[in-house]
Amino acid sequence: MNTQDYISLENQYGANNYNPLDVVIDKAQGVWVWDVEGNKYMDCLAAYSAVNQGHCHPRIVDALKNQAEKVTLTSRAFRNDQLPLLYKELSELTGFEKVLPMNSGAEAVETALKAVRKWGYKVKGVPENKAEIITCRNNFGGRTITIISFSTEEQYKDGFGPLTPGFKNVEYGNAKALEEAITENTVAFLVEPIQGEGGVIVPPEGYLKEAYDICQKNNVLLITDEIQSGLGRSGKLFAFEYDGIRPDGVTIGKALSGGLYPVSAFLASKEIMDVFHPGDHGSTFGGNPLGAAVAREALKVLVEENLVEKSYEHGKYFREQLRAVNSKHVKEIRGRGLFIGVELNDEAGGARRFCEALMGKGILAKETHDNVIRFAPPLVITKEEIDWAMERIKDVLLMD
Ligand SMILES: *Cc1c(COP(=O)(O)O)cnc(C)c1O
Repeated sequence: MNTQDYISLENQYGANNYNPLDVVIDKAQGVWVWDVEGNKYMDCLAAYSAVNQGHCHPRIVDALKNQAEKVTLTSRAFRNDQLPLLYKELSELTGFEKVLPMNSGAEAVETALKAVRKWGYKVKGVPENKAEIITCRNNFGGRTITIISFSTEEQYKDGFGPLTPGFKNVEYGNAKALEEAITENTVAFLVEPIQGEGGVIVPPEGYLKEAYDICQKNNVLLITDEIQSGLGRSGKLFAFEYDGIRPDGVTIGKALSGGLYPVSAFLASKEIMDVFHPGDHGSTFGGNPLGAAVAREALKVLVEENLVEKSYEHGKYFREQLRAVNSKHVKEIRGRGLFIGVELNDEAGGARRFCEALMGKGILAKETHDNVIRFAPPLVITKEEIDWAMERIKDVLLMD
């Protein structure tokens, strides 16, 4: 079967809810992937930052294989010997007292929403069914009905109502707007420290610190969604570190398993997590020993290979190289660590044609929104590999 055969099958039998580049991958290692015709590409998307540790990292693959032969799933009706160790290691690494494991990122966000609502009723004393959560315009938190209810992307919501009430959107990067939106019933502010799907938007310096102070003053919880920005992508373990704050809770996912298995979590203080009692919330696969063993190894790789520091250094280098290109199509180059967005001018004709041209040269990148090219390769990328990519990116950014 060739590329076209696979695409035909996919079109015939699959739901049409994605518009992927026409490359069919059958092998991957580190920053590289190969298609079914044997062509080699550099992966500059890293599965939306799920493969920060690089594709098929041998240590994580071994952890998965070893655990798969022992026990994979007990459900939380029984205990397993991997989850307590993941709890301890995750807590020690991140400084959050408590962990609630889930699978997808959206489930971690849902978990955070449930936690802050319940905290609002049981601890803050908000009247029943009155809890409000403030979110930001241009956010992305996943695709469940509740999460799309606070999306400002019309397509995400079109045809899926009725939506979940209790959310209020404010302008991203504007702390004053947050302050004005808070009422006595506000329980939390949920925010991405860098908006990934929104176009790799980095808010103004000090925004999160201001938001943190406003939340503190008003007894509102600050929850950062670091499913994409976290675990090294931004050049820090968490992007909130750039503002010198510690939010009340954080959601993580994606790179938590190095891309081998869906593992996500909501991390929070004991005070918040203690709102959950047996039976309040759960997931059949959440906290399973296979996922826990994979996540434990994925975190060890992140630390032992200094991937957070590498992301910081190499991200800086990558952005410098991009700036040196001086393309007439480029409006702005932004980002932190290896979380990089190249915004194109309106006249550039959209980012998609640039991504297709990059693919022709052996680089896989994906447009986010219509006019932003995202460069977010696995954090294991070397300086030499960035140089290799830049030669090709340069040609594409300088095309007509
Ligand atoms: C990807 C993402 C999610 C959702 O994760 P899924 O695993 O796709 O459900 C949530 N929040 C942010 C910031 C993300 O980037």
